[in-house]
Amino acid sequence: MLKIDGLKKKYGQSMALDGLSMQVDDGSLYGFVGPNGAGKTTTIKIITGLLLPDRGTVTIDGIDVTREPASVREKIGYVPDFFGIYDNVKVSEYMEFFASCYGLYGLKARRRCMMLLEQVRLDEKADFFVEGLSRGMKQRLSLARALIHNPALLIMDEPTAGLDPRTRLEFRQILKDLREQKKTILISSHILPELSEICTDIGIVDQGRVVLEGTMTDILNQINISSSLIISTKGNQDKAIEILRSHPSVQTIAIEQEDIVVGFTGDRQDEATLLKRLVDEGVRVYGFVREKGSLESVFMEITNHKEERLVLVHEG
Ligand code: ATP
Repeated sequence: MLKIDGLKKKYGQSMALDGLSMQVDDGSLYGFVGPNGAGKTTTIKIITGLLLPDRGTVTIDGIDVTREPASVREKIGYVPDFFGIYDNVKVSEYMEFFASCYGLYGLKARRRCMMLLEQVRLDEKADFFVEGLSRGMKQRLSLARALIHNPALLIMDEPTAGLDPRTRLEFRQILKDLREQKKTILISSHILPELSEICTDIGIVDQGRVVLEGTMTDILNQINISSSLIISTKGNQDKAIEILRSHPSVQTIAIEQEDIVVGFTGDRQDEATLLKRLVDEGVRVYGFVREKGSLESVFMEITNHKEERLVLVHEG
């Protein structure tokens, strides 16, 4: 669906994108995540044709966004990270105005708008003024607007920023519905957990490059495989260490009182074999667990800007 190759963009002397490449497959919900200033908004602006890259290509279904911006725009629905000011406009009027921008008028427009308002759970607010809506409602209205021309690819920039947990939950449900309608969705955020729960794919961006990309399943498997084994023994720790030293999947060994923390690259089968060997050779093992790796810990490690730039917990 979306393919980005070697994107570069400078603002003056400051490098915003430094060879960013990524791929979003048909029907996926892709979490585009990275710390503040990583280059997410710049990338989205280029995809949506609002900004030209210095180098690199972006194609949607094989169509180049810089060469054929009009064709590409038909395929994209864009939900920006801000909501423009619309005074004295009712929700239905707001929707119908945007419908008219796509050549939809009269009954056809009204039907389409009402259907979309139902989809984002705003049908009961059709006669309310936009300015009186809550932040979460405005966000959903923005989403309904982005869907007017039935785009195949939906791009959302920080869609849940500033929303309370309940509103976020509603938003997630709407995203699930959209996936059932086979939409491909790209969501950018600097808050990882809320994406890791709903996304099928993740791309982590840092300093203008995608530094890790893959399906959630593959990434989580990798994390689990690279996490430590914690073996608790009673008494004969030396024997346990001797066995561990000779094991090919053991990379590091650290002693923490009665626990041995082992950098272990093996899979579950290797874990079982190791445990059996320890027990067979008389080591009294009373604890044997693989530390649960988390996407957050990987994010922290690879972006490595722990102090002020990452937000790894739900806000609000
Ligand atoms: P955030 O999560 O804070 O929105 P982001 O990942 O979306 O961040 P961008 O907004 O794309 O990051 O910014 C990437 C880099 O480019 C940052 O260093 C930013 O300061 C810089 N930048 C962005 N827009 C401009 C601009 N109009 N002029 C100059 N520098 C800019």
